[in-house]
Amino acid sequence: MVAMARRRTPSSASAAPTGCPCGLPAAYADCCGRLHRGEAAAGSAEQLMRSRFSAFAVRDEPYLLRSWHPDTRPASVDFDPSLRWERLEILGATDGGPFHQDGTVEFRAHYRERGRAGSLHENSRFVRHQGEWVYLDGVIQP
Ligand SMILES: [Zn+2]
Repeated sequence: MVAMARRRTPSSASAAPTGCPCGLPAAYADCCGRLHRGEAAAGSAEQLMRSRFSAFAVRDEPYLLRSWHPDTRPASVDFDPSLRWERLEILGATDGGPFHQDGTVEFRAHYRERGRAGSLHENSRFVRHQGEWVYLDGVIQP
């Protein structure tokens, strides 16, 4: 925390610790934070995926629920208090662009659980629901 207060570099695209949890260099408030606050909508399935990873990282349950398709949405999201989502790696994507109605995003999400590093490899499906990208479901890869 002390180091953060002291840091003052105007051009700091490489300063990973201050970037968004989704992995992009922009600050959280200007990146996924805009989606979480409802000020912007995801322009692609990948952007929605990133914003949902960030929502897990900052434990934004309302955002996770409203970016979930109503057919597959759980009643609530249980955040494991011993688990911290640390880094997202996008491995690939199909469709999910401005002119698509669905798309997939394959990713590896890195976490730390009681000090131990782990990762989740999933291929997620996204669809448009009332014009907006939402998460439908995913297949966990071994
Ligand atoms: Zn972000």
